[in-house]
Amino acid sequence: MNTFKKIDDNFVANTYTRFNVELVKGKGSYLYDVNGKEYIDLNSGIAVNTFGISDKVWAKAVKKQLGKLQHASNLYYTEPCALLAKTLCDKTGAKKVFFSNSGAEANECAIKCARLWASNNKGKEYFNVITLKNSFHGRTITTLSANGQEVFHKDFTPLTEGFLYAEPNDLNGLEELLKQNKCAGILMELVQGEGGVLPLDKDFVLGVKKLCDKYNVLLMIDEVQTGNGRTGTLYAYQQFGIIPDVVSTAKGLGGGLPLGATIFFEKTENVLTAGLHGSTFGGNPVATAGALSIIQRLTPEFLSEINKKSEYIFSELSGAKGVKSVSGLGLMIGIETVGDAGKIIADCIAKGVLPIKAKNKVRLLPALNIPWDTLKIAVEILKQTIKENCQ
Ligand code: PLP
Repeated sequence: MNTFKKIDDNFVANTYTRFNVELVKGKGSYLYDVNGKEYIDLNSGIAVNTFGISDKVWAKAVKKQLGKLQHASNLYYTEPCALLAKTLCDKTGAKKVFFSNSGAEANECAIKCARLWASNNKGKEYFNVITLKNSFHGRTITTLSANGQEVFHKDFTPLTEGFLYAEPNDLNGLEELLKQNKCAGILMELVQGEGGVLPLDKDFVLGVKKLCDKYNVLLMIDEVQTGNGRTGTLYAYQQFGIIPDVVSTAKGLGGGLPLGATIFFEKTENVLTAGLHGSTFGGNPVATAGALSIIQRLTPEFLSEINKKSEYIFSELSGAKGVKSVSGLGLMIGIETVGDAGKIIADCIAKGVLPIKAKNKVRLLPALNIPWDTLKIAVEILKQTIKENCQ
């Protein structure tokens, strides 16, 4: 029984290649389609549903706020927006937060901040931002220009001026770009998610921080996918021994509602002033009330459980038949397989398990609270499917 697939195919813009699955509801790490088929969710809406589907605590916070005030505009103060900003600052040592609605917007804000900071401190000609090859920062014209992947550029020229691309884990190459160009900052993911779930080397990241100090440019970390507990710490930068100047995040922050945040540390807290940036929906009371409930639950005990689940997945899959390599951090994992990743994912879907793809890999982004027994069932099915596909 297909009910709304046909309508969607006819009326929704053709920008997505959807799987042939019509989802209607879910609970925790389980999803159900229009035919009543059950699936174990191993991607949580691409790292969005932090505590799974219809999580009680999150839903209660959202519903409570919905019954009070669903939107107010940024002309007025609202409690959830204020409290979420304070909580994020308390937990990171950051100073200020700008709220938007998506990862791309969070990055746009970071890039605007870098340009303005450089203009104020070094001169307007210091507008270049260095990103890494194979990176992904979004799909607006400016953030696609930031992406270090030609495939995102080719159909949309002219690009936004002022992006330079460095090879990941090559400090000398990065320093050359800093020497030869007038730069405002560096923007990078610590685990390249869409690029294939590839963590950067810790030494490289520490080196980048030193170069930022040496050349007086901002260090901006894109934590849209890695943030909000996904990698086993509240933000991934906390595992790399650095303090950035700007962190952008989204996805799991809202736990299922659209929310982006650009988090400013000491150097950048007062760069963007009244009238220089804004958003109609940014900091929406319902989205921020839900987000507050999520951030408050990412306690050290909870985060340590994420790391245990990560270790379990790594140990089950590393060296398993048909697995070439396993990469990632926390519950953001990429599996390079002997068999075709697309075919493996399709076979998993048929068996009721929902991983996704990242480049040529099978990618896992389960809800952070996926129960152990559910995780074990899903990993077993995945392992078996990978094995079947290498024969
Ligand atoms: N940055 C990173 C690292 C991402 O993974 C993504 C989305 O996958 C984005 C930015 C863009 O986020 P959004 O789709 O919410 O604009």
